[in-house]
Amino acid sequence: MNKIEQQRKTGILFVALIAILAMCIESAHAQPKWDESRIIDIYVHRDGPLSLYDTYYSAMYAGWAWGQRTGLRTQVRGSSSQAGDNTRGIVIEFGSSDQMKRMKAPEGAVAATWVEFNLWTDDINFAYILIDESKIVDFAHCFGNILIHEMGHAVGIQGHSDDAADVMHADYDTGDCRHMITANDARMAPYEPQLCHSELSPVGDLYIPSIQGTSATLSYRGGMRWQLDQAREAVGGCSGIIAGDSVRLYDVRTFDAWLAGEQGQRRAYNVTLRVDGESVELINGEVVQ
Ligand SMILES: [Zn+2]
Repeated sequence: MNKIEQQRKTGILFVALIAILAMCIESAHAQPKWDESRIIDIYVHRDGPLSLYDTYYSAMYAGWAWGQRTGLRTQVRGSSSQAGDNTRGIVIEFGSSDQMKRMKAPEGAVAATWVEFNLWTDDINFAYILIDESKIVDFAHCFGNILIHEMGHAVGIQGHSDDAADVMHADYDTGDCRHMITANDARMAPYEPQLCHSELSPVGDLYIPSIQGTSATLSYRGGMRWQLDQAREAVGGCSGIIAGDSVRLYDVRTFDAWLAGEQGQRRAYNVTLRVDGESVELINGEVVQ
């Protein structure tokens, strides 16, 4: 049994019982959430089965991406070995299948998340993400997706999405590692969803949450060209405008690991795209932040 597991076991069980009671009086009980005025510290396992760069990068990106959609602020503070009994924040660790079992993770899960919150204030003060180190090796190419899904639970999402295009869908699809938080995902979180910016994912895919009634995902094909992948109905139209065959996006954000820890942790662009059927091409892009 590791340090976190030992120290937190009583607390987690207590919360699990309380959570069941809370579900019985669901209508009177708000969804637990983090205090938005604080920066959420993230602690990451240093000696896991994946490279330290992949682990830290994925943790920083997941924290950043949820922050952009919820208004929460996160920072990777250090190693999970520094986290202890009084840690407030999110701890990410790799563990054995036995440990997953002892913690009562759902059968067959690659990863699971436990959340502690104050019953009286509904403030989340601690979240623990445990990843099965024996299973993650087969899912390493989807690690970013797995972490962004678990981070969704860590920020307070309790259920799952029915739509396979959302990161909060329960199954990790090995063929299509979803990186980007959709408008649907953002609405599941207990915060005001922030849907006016588009996001360029770490693999170059572009997600547009809301442009003149449509939400769209563009898959990167190389050479500043994308393929229109999914278009869904969206509410509102704040991401940009469509004029004939060109699309102008006002605020395309991308996570930049080199800026991590600096103010904003992002670059933003104004972008003009030309659309030809399902094929999309970059015409102009300027850094605005
Ligand atoms: Zn889940």
